[in-house]
Amino acid sequence: MRDFIFFNPVKVYFGKKCMKYFGNEAKKHGKKALLVYGKGSIKKNGAYHDIVNSLEKAEIEFVEFSGVRPNPVLSHTKEGIELAKKEKVDFIIAAGGGSVIDESKAIAAGAVVDFDVWNFYTGEKTPEKALPLITVLTLPATASEMNMGSVITNEENGLKLSTGAEVLYPKASFLNPNYTMTLPEEQIVYGTVDAISHIVEPYFNHTAEYNILSLNVADGVLKSLKENCENILNEPNNYNFRANHMWSVTVAFNGLIRTGLGRSEFPNHAIEHAISGLFPDVAHGAGLAVVMPAWMRFVKEEKEELLKRFGQNLFKLENHKPDHTIEAFKNWLKSIGAPVSLGEIGIKENDIEKIAEKAYEVMQFWAMDTDKYSKENIEKILTFAL
Ligand code: NAP
Ligand code: FE
Repeated sequence: MRDFIFFNPVKVYFGKKCMKYFGNEAKKHGKKALLVYGKGSIKKNGAYHDIVNSLEKAEIEFVEFSGVRPNPVLSHTKEGIELAKKEKVDFIIAAGGGSVIDESKAIAAGAVVDFDVWNFYTGEKTPEKALPLITVLTLPATASEMNMGSVITNEENGLKLSTGAEVLYPKASFLNPNYTMTLPEEQIVYGTVDAISHIVEPYFNHTAEYNILSLNVADGVLKSLKENCENILNEPNNYNFRANHMWSVTVAFNGLIRTGLGRSEFPNHAIEHAISGLFPDVAHGAGLAVVMPAWMRFVKEEKEELLKRFGQNLFKLENHKPDHTIEAFKNWLKSIGAPVSLGEIGIKENDIEKIAEKAYEVMQFWAMDTDKYSKENIEKILTFAL
């Protein structure tokens, strides 16, 4: 087990009645808020109604900023920063999925500085202060509600980069599983795949020895993600399935599972960021479903033991080879309706070169092993995904 520092200051309010605490929590952070959301799904799932009611009762003024798009972009983020500055808001409320939360983190950090917020994403600067952020989650996928990461796409050059800093942890996050009842099936599937990838990356890419607590916790959360995703697809109105799924997704990437694993790399995310940076209509989870089995094939010799463990845990395979795990994973992804080839997400063979170049650039920003992940090897992985 490697040494680690674990810090997660996010206060989580979980459950069907959690919003009764919203007003009191919001009051702690000021008198005027910027309410950030996307295209308006929050008006159908009850979140908007509950937030506005609570803010009115708590006598908190608020300004709305909507239109955050999936795979959020820098230009819209900058509009939000301008609005937060102009309105002199005390804090930010993010209501939606990972895109809304990530853009809200960027607004929270950008609103207190005078330089371009993109500097945080290129690594030239690190956020040292930010407006307080409260999130109301409506889509379990990213765990952004309980981590310090934020991902933004600079649409001028197709670069999708991330930043992270302690000041970006939300002060509090409200997780009401009932808000997820309006999600289209595909968003449940993409969210599940994203959460699985958040475990798969450290599970396979760590530097510590096997069979430590984190890997055992990972096995349990992976099982819960798989089973609850299947259960929700069969019985969409079951609260218990929704609740277990929502919390599993958050635990998958709130830092707990990475403890003791040493430094892990995120090659699947780097390749996916290149895909959705260049093809913004591709959902993050859809891109990951295509990349993960192909990446597993690329590392199957080096990761033989872990691939066997993954296959035994999730698909009850015995006396199997890594190829059987990869096949079972791919078949399961297909069975829940996830894409497993580049063609299914609208990407052609002659797009591979430019995706590999962009992924290589992302990996350089993330200080990854670019000998292992040379442009040629990234192309190889993408070719496996054809
Ligand atoms: P998302 O892009 O936030 O949302 C996808 C779609 O789902 C939107 O159209 C949204 O509509 C809709 N939606 C949300 N809640 C809904 C509900 N309850 N009912 C019906 N529709 C609903 O999806 P996401 O997967 O959560 O976020 C993806 C982004 O997060 C990507 O940019 C990815 O790179 C990033 N990411 C971040 C982290 C991190 O740690 N920070 C980790 C992984 C990925 P509205 O427009 O109406 O909201
Ligand atoms: Fe992700």
